[in-house]
Amino acid sequence: MPDTPDKSSPSWRPQTLLSRGGTLRSQFGETSEAIFMTSGYVYQRAEDAEEAFAKDGVRYVYSRYANPTVAMFEERLRLIEGAEACRGLSSGMAAVFASMACFLRAGDRVVASRALFGSCNYIITQILPRYGIETELVDGRDLNAWEKALARGAKAVFVESLSNPTLEIIDIAAVAKLTHKAGGLLIVDNVFATPLLLKPLALGADIVIYSATKHIDGQGRSLGGVVLGPAAWFKDHLAQFLRNTGPSLSPFNAWLLLKGLETLDLRVERMSRNAAEVAAFLEGHGKIQRVIYPGLASHPQRALVGRQLKGGGTLMAFSVGGGKAGAFRCLNALKLVLISNNLGDARSLVTHPATTTHHRLKPEERAELGIDDGLIRLSVGLEDPADLKEDLDRALAAV
Ligand SMILES: *Cc1c(COP(=O)(O)O)cnc(C)c1O
Repeated sequence: MPDTPDKSSPSWRPQTLLSRGGTLRSQFGETSEAIFMTSGYVYQRAEDAEEAFAKDGVRYVYSRYANPTVAMFEERLRLIEGAEACRGLSSGMAAVFASMACFLRAGDRVVASRALFGSCNYIITQILPRYGIETELVDGRDLNAWEKALARGAKAVFVESLSNPTLEIIDIAAVAKLTHKAGGLLIVDNVFATPLLLKPLALGADIVIYSATKHIDGQGRSLGGVVLGPAAWFKDHLAQFLRNTGPSLSPFNAWLLLKGLETLDLRVERMSRNAAEVAAFLEGHGKIQRVIYPGLASHPQRALVGRQLKGGGTLMAFSVGGGKAGAFRCLNALKLVLISNNLGDARSLVTHPATTTHHRLKPEERAELGIDDGLIRLSVGLEDPADLKEDLDRALAAV
């Protein structure tokens, strides 16, 4: 885009980039990023319009293609992630779909980890096959399963670096090697880990996806999605796909997400610290059967956590006795923690995956993923952890 060049220094550290990276200033010299709520742009002369259409990227033409507020958000996140290119989209699912639909064609093969967000699972198992794309799901923790599935080649591999809701961890470096040997691109949905706790590109991944709705906004205000990856792939595939299909990010929402990035590090750090305290409390609680949290020594992939993640993160899952009835009694007795299927928010949120985010799966598919009827996902927010523990303790007494 024409005006991404700015005063960001390549030596700025992540915390500086989060509040300052990619800022563009108009002739008015505003401090805060301007919201360019405009669908189109005007030309002085017909020749200017002719030139704009002849040469891509010389100026803003139409906000479905590019917009200055959206460009600031894209450039800031690009710098933080250390990617060659970044595009902001209307939602996380728009980003997941576009990352595959933009370059796959009939006859291609896609391999994905089985532990996926419900809508990611739907795209891979229901939508892509309708267009003649063969898809296969494997146990993402099992490198032998990856090796076997990728021996048949694959154009794309899709994984969630930390899975929803059971927090399984993918060995990104190992899966990237196998993917490249198979001739494909590794696409990593890094939502649960956030841009701060895991850097998939540094481990060999090709494309990174975020739902910016989650920690990046993190205040329950806006949907948003992001695709990050190589400039050549953007030019050859993603740019034209987005330009002509239109899952654009609103400039207003891009502005909210810029404000979210300013405090992302502070929020994720505090929320992770609160989560660690809550997880330790739950693990010692008599009413709890198991707690899955990457920051606990009991996490089944502990060695990989140490190698790959910078912290335990803000999310955990735990099982209470009594199946669905027990889980519902616990949810309904909470007063501070809210029942919501969102996550990464400043408010602590719980959800019951078996009846919400993963209700479309067959019971045996849920069992395979470790989603039992007593499983509760908890996204820890910015409240005082003592209040959270009191609330959970009272709710667990109802189980
Ligand atoms: C929420 C979520 C998405 C989808 O994002 P939206 O912004 O809701 O469309 C994709 N992947 C994961 C892991 C998520 O948690």
